Amino acid sequence: MSEVPTVRGPVDTADLGPTYMHEHIFVLTADVQQNYPGEWGGEDERIADAVTKLSALAAQGVRTIVDPTVIGLGRCLPRIQRVAEQVPGLNIIVATGLYTYDSVPFFFHHRGPALGAEVPDPMVDMFTADITEGITGTGIRAGMLKCAIDEHGMTPGVERVMRAVAAAHHRTGVPVTVHTHPGTRTGLEVKRVLCDSAGVDPGRVVLGHSGDTTDCDHLAELADAGFMLGMDRFGINLATTFEARADTLVEMCRRGYAERMVLSQDASCYIDWIDPNVLPFLPQWHYLHIHDEVLPYAREHGVTEEQIAAMLTANPRRFFEKTG
Ligand SMILES: [Zn+2]
Repeated sequence: MSEVPTVRGPVDTADLGPTYMHEHIFVLTADVQQNYPGEWGGEDERIADAVTKLSALAAQGVRTIVDPTVIGLGRCLPRIQRVAEQVPGLNIIVATGLYTYDSVPFFFHHRGPALGAEVPDPMVDMFTADITEGITGTGIRAGMLKCAIDEHGMTPGVERVMRAVAAAHHRTGVPVTVHTHPGTRTGLEVKRVLCDSAGVDPGRVVLGHSGDTTDCDHLAELADAGFMLGMDRFGINLATTFEARADTLVEMCRRGYAERMVLSQDASCYIDWIDPNVLPFLPQWHYLHIHDEVLPYAREHGVTEEQIAAMLTANPRRFFEKTG
């Protein structure tokens, strides 16, 4: 028996149920919002909107989401706590870590290893405390570690964060999710630094956004290395199409990789990265898309109920259960 912390308290991994492994609630540029809150509007209004949207997701039978909103994405736990209290049918697992594609935030520029290779990185203690004590006095513990690597590759800042995430993982056993850019095969860089060098078992790592590529040979290579593949951007059909994303899932299931994939949409109730007038061009990007459109398509194309259950329920459960 194994427990995972959620916003409302620990949940047995056997009770996580169908789980979406990568859904945000609010993605905010914190200091822009603090100074220009006009578009965001009222706190109560945004929370009510999130409660409505997440309640609709829970009504589809999804029991748990992982919200990988960390430093760099505007994490604010008291706000998430208010939402979670009003959506009792949905467990929310929150994360710690840092999201950057290039350099570390200025806060870290002249601290830790920036002062000398032997000086410990304060990030490690920050991430660890979020996992063992709780986040900003809420008592809510993080159940996932998060970092990122994008098309800029393994910059010094990206590598520093990745090594701090690895250190916090070794102290706590909490699994890791990494934003990757599969088009430039950054999963192999994650393997090199996070796993081969820093010693994290690929079986405890989700390679996020793996579904952004249609290169099934590359995905198979990463799955064979032991990683969990995040097919987690269903509905973001800008550089790709609904069919291309869904067909990649179908093909990977056909090749026998249902045990190595988890599903999600990378959706949010509010994200300030995108002009609100542009969002109508992404009409399928919302919490209900997988259940309403992706799974019916997958079934029609030969994906079995057993494979769907593996991706939604068994794989997330196994992923959160500490294996050693
Ligand atoms: Zn995301």
